[in-house]
Amino acid sequence: MAQQKQWWLNEPIRIIEFPDKFNDYAKKVQTLKKLGGNAEHLLNYAFKRGKSEQLETFHEPGEHYLEVDAVSLKKYLEHTRKQKTRVIVYYNVHAENKKYIDLMPGWVQRKEDGTAIDNLYGLNTSFCVNSPWRDRVFKIVGDLASCGVDGIFFDGPIFVTNTCYCAACKTAFQKKYGYELPSKTKLVSQRENPQWYDLVEFQSESISSFLAESNRQIKKVNPDTLLYMNGNTLSPDWPTGRNNRKVIEVTDVLGAEGGFLYGELRESIYKPGATAKWVNGLANGKPSVVFCAAGHKPWNFSTLPAGEISILYSQTITHQANVWLAYSDDPWCYQDEVKVLQKYNAFIKKYPELFMNTVSLASVALVWPAQTGNYYTGSEIPLTDFTKEMKSEKAGNVLEEFYGLYAILARNHVPFDVIDEKTLENTDPKYKLVVFPNVACMSKKMVDGVKKFVFSGGNIMSSFETSLYDEKGKKLENLQLSDVMGVENVSTPFGPLNWDFIYAADPGHYSVKGLVKRNYIVSTIHGLNITARKNAVVPIKYFDPLVGRYAGSPKKSEKPFLIENKYGNGRSIFFAGTIGHAVARFNFPDFYRIAGNALKPLAGVGVKLTNAPSSIEITARKNKESGDVYAYFVNLTSESKRPIEQIVPVHDVGVELKIDKKVKNVTALWASKKIKFTQKGSTVKFVLPKIEEYEVVKLEGK
Ligand SMILES: [Zn+2]
Repeated sequence: MAQQKQWWLNEPIRIIEFPDKFNDYAKKVQTLKKLGGNAEHLLNYAFKRGKSEQLETFHEPGEHYLEVDAVSLKKYLEHTRKQKTRVIVYYNVHAENKKYIDLMPGWVQRKEDGTAIDNLYGLNTSFCVNSPWRDRVFKIVGDLASCGVDGIFFDGPIFVTNTCYCAACKTAFQKKYGYELPSKTKLVSQRENPQWYDLVEFQSESISSFLAESNRQIKKVNPDTLLYMNGNTLSPDWPTGRNNRKVIEVTDVLGAEGGFLYGELRESIYKPGATAKWVNGLANGKPSVVFCAAGHKPWNFSTLPAGEISILYSQTITHQANVWLAYSDDPWCYQDEVKVLQKYNAFIKKYPELFMNTVSLASVALVWPAQTGNYYTGSEIPLTDFTKEMKSEKAGNVLEEFYGLYAILARNHVPFDVIDEKTLENTDPKYKLVVFPNVACMSKKMVDGVKKFVFSGGNIMSSFETSLYDEKGKKLENLQLSDVMGVENVSTPFGPLNWDFIYAADPGHYSVKGLVKRNYIVSTIHGLNITARKNAVVPIKYFDPLVGRYAGSPKKSEKPFLIENKYGNGRSIFFAGTIGHAVARFNFPDFYRIAGNALKPLAGVGVKLTNAPSSIEITARKNKESGDVYAYFVNLTSESKRPIEQIVPVHDVGVELKIDKKVKNVTALWASKKIKFTQKGSTVKFVLPKIEEYEVVKLEGK
């Protein structure tokens, strides 16, 4: 008999977390259904002492380790099963009440001086995955599975940034590596030290082993109970020990907080989509999810306006991650926002085939350099609920470089995937172009993989110190990809160039199309001293830096800014500067144009939009079963401010799409409209009369 698929593999999950009293079962499930969800994060469970029939309503960190009252949970699950909704228990495994520092001294995470963590979120402590607390968790998750819950969500587990030096960690490290657990705060500024590598590995292995054992206990009871955790965001994983590649090996769904928006909303507008692309790629066939908060953080009881909710959902689902939205206040207080949520959830429910079992048709991949984040000192950690912001103004900030190049691709209407460095070892030949946002740290295996890829006809576009370090953060004599890039004599980076310029040295070159009449093109803030090899082309060079912004006209230098080179059958475009950073920070239009000009001939893009603003992001995917092609349009067009209150519709967008079969029907599913089209050979052309906040166009084959 064929084994039935686990439930989370059968349809897209639409998870909602909302504060509701657990004592009114019917109302709670009704709310979930009205919002369009099919699964809830159950916050208000309590495995508590005593014989009460009611489950206690609490969400206080630390309380979950009390005894189980399975009776009422089972009753609730009987009810949800009848209503066909799923219940995933929220299990806080990272923030605990401070009283446990005294009650359970052997469980808490400790700093290097031996003192316990007592200021997580200002008021909590945290238990350590290597301490005897783990046995407690393994028992509880087994008990929860026995009750029949559909899944368990771990919030955490994490190492707090400056931990952990508890007895269990010290012993385990010594045993594994044969020397004393080294200082994290000291090594963080000496990342080329091999002990840093050991420490980062040790912590991510510790988390992974905790997850693996938890999942074993759960699956022993019921293989149909889901386990997943709050995984790492697009940021280095050393501060918390969450390494998503390891996490997904031992859990069922890979998730990250791509939709937690903070403060001035100065993070990239593409954060939810970038996170979805990344976790979906890493999950390697398993499902993924993007965690989105309705609240504008850190104002926990606020709710983001409808436009922001829309782009959280449209970006998440387009890149095939499941949706998860958390309310901290009563959703019904926000009618406009609820309507958006209901609209998206209904759309996912109606067309599940758009959001699972599809393959990307992108011919371009952008690398998220996770390893570089850990072992390269130019990196920065963004603000999340788990990490305090640590700004570094050093050259080569990887996060900004990534988001700048992300924006360049998206705003030039280039569909693309996000891959991690590990993928480079065997670069998928379906990609015509791979983009490297200052991917500084690369192993020999990755370098060999990239060389092979380019030699056999692939193309790369890279920036700044890409490949100048080994995978452990050791700076090398030369860029490892220098043959591919056509460069030599690499020396130090220069800058900051606070008011400086570059110029078109070859005005006929395609990269400066539309810019040839400019005397001055604004420069990146940092550059890399490097020489181009004889056969390489240098269409753009740096001016000499000015002493001050009014210090006269700059002199032309011979320093290359853009170097184009042929390698085997492929080509490289190398920016000897931090172009992604310049776009992420300043949105210089010239850089969108230069990079767009440079990449388009290399990217083999199968889609062309006309009359569309750069705020429309286009993605193309194909259903694995039906072979139907879907074109997804995420509309980010707004009223020029964030938070975005409403998305502004876009009209009469021309679409040209390459497709490998005869098309029978073209339908705009969000608008529920048949679309007139023409097909000549492999090119299908049509005009979309109106793109509201979102659209998916289905191209049905004959
Ligand atoms: Zn520990």
